[in-house]
Amino acid sequence: MRGFYNLVLCANLTQKSFDIKIIPDDVTRKYLGGKGLATHLLLRHNPAGVDPFGRDNHLILAVGPAAGTGLWGSCRYGVFTKSPQTGFYAESYSGGAAAEYMTGTGFDAFMLEGASDEPVWLEIAEDRVIFHPAADLWGRDARAAEDTVKKWIARNRPGGTKCGVVAIGPAGENMVSFAVMGNGHRQRAGRTGAAAVMGSKKIKALAFFGTRRKELFDKARISGLVQKIETAAEDDPWLRACGSMGGREASLGASTPPDAAPRACSRCLAACGPALADKNGGRRVPTHETVFSFGSLCDVEDFAEVLYLNDLCDRLGMDAVARLLSDIAHRRGHGEILAGGIRYAADKWEMPEAPPRTVRPGPFRERLAGAAEMFAEWEDRLTIFDSLILCRFYRDLYRWDSLGEIIRSTTGLDLDVEAMRRTASEVIDNTRRFNVREKLAAEGGSGGGHFSAQSLSEAGEAITEGEMLKLLQDYYRARGWDEKGIPPDLPVS
Ligand code: SF4
Repeated sequence: MRGFYNLVLCANLTQKSFDIKIIPDDVTRKYLGGKGLATHLLLRHNPAGVDPFGRDNHLILAVGPAAGTGLWGSCRYGVFTKSPQTGFYAESYSGGAAAEYMTGTGFDAFMLEGASDEPVWLEIAEDRVIFHPAADLWGRDARAAEDTVKKWIARNRPGGTKCGVVAIGPAGENMVSFAVMGNGHRQRAGRTGAAAVMGSKKIKALAFFGTRRKELFDKARISGLVQKIETAAEDDPWLRACGSMGGREASLGASTPPDAAPRACSRCLAACGPALADKNGGRRVPTHETVFSFGSLCDVEDFAEVLYLNDLCDRLGMDAVARLLSDIAHRRGHGEILAGGIRYAADKWEMPEAPPRTVRPGPFRERLAGAAEMFAEWEDRLTIFDSLILCRFYRDLYRWDSLGEIIRSTTGLDLDVEAMRRTASEVIDNTRRFNVREKLAAEGGSGGGHFSAQSLSEAGEAITEGEMLKLLQDYYRARGWDEKGIPPDLPVS
């Protein structure tokens, strides 16, 4: 089908071999690409109950039909696996420019299984996978590994070939359960531990390059949509807010950086990451989460310190929400326990569960009627985002009509809203099937009492567990699942 190559590259790390699987049109038609395709592959190839660090746990990187089209917000890839942190389905997305190199190889997804005995980095091009030894890179930070691999490709492949590289740092190597993989020095993917799975397979880095271009159904319509969104973005308050987010949030907890300059992924109008001057006269680009998690939430007022911590996270290959960074990444002292994730550490140290947030009962009750249906519609639309793989910051610009136009102009499929929602439901059902197969208990889905156990001081009362359970049942009904949250036809591939 147009918009896809209908090919998945499968690499076996144990055997140092690869093969290519053809994806039939009915699969791409049913699930689209990105999340839809990767979830289908995970459900089909991961054995139930597999150890997340076991050889049979698959690590899948995927691009969607939007990749390489020039559409705004399309410069993203996703990574999918069984999470070592939760034991359930894991998905995470990253921007930058890596997705454009991935799609240049001529594959819609890359499925990695097995585990190498020694560190390797993989060169993935149109016609080959080469397993390079990486003992000299093991232990080095993610940026250094990315730079070294890029230089090697430029020196050893014709014409100074450029490539996209995804690399892990010491945190991924040491299988820290919230390790992330980095690309482009500042973009990260792998929340819930996908980089730890990469480390368990002894993969230090993946390099992608190639000149393939997939056939698109209607390039002129794609160009028209690019123009239309460019014009609409000028008046989109959310996208404009994203563009200034770093500066706004910086001012909440740290002195406002005087010379913040916007930095964007390769196909973006928003530029949500500000580039800021660091102590050494260089420029660093923290994500907005980092700005508030290391700034205002930690009472850190010196912006240079925020930049230093952000830089450390990028190099160690860790989610920037964490602290005690080096000890955790190298599993030293208390870091050994914290490397297992917050729940593991709480169990080890016998700490009580702390509700992360409570809900104001008044507004919550007013909106209860119809909330599940509204949420299901929102979830469906964002699932189409994740299957095309578009940046979610474009969610107010790509409404259903634009998503339909993207699908039509890239693939030729003519899907109305109902048909897109059916596609999204198939993908969400498969995600749920994966988790149910991994023994996710229905009663664990109400928030575990977090939202009802403790009242907000100003509200004086809490919502009840019964109200939360009713909302959950409403949601299961809206999804077409039974009262235990089990989708039909379990298990299904
Ligand atoms: S909004 Fe931010 S994350 Fe999204 S594409 Fe633009 S720069 Fe990348």
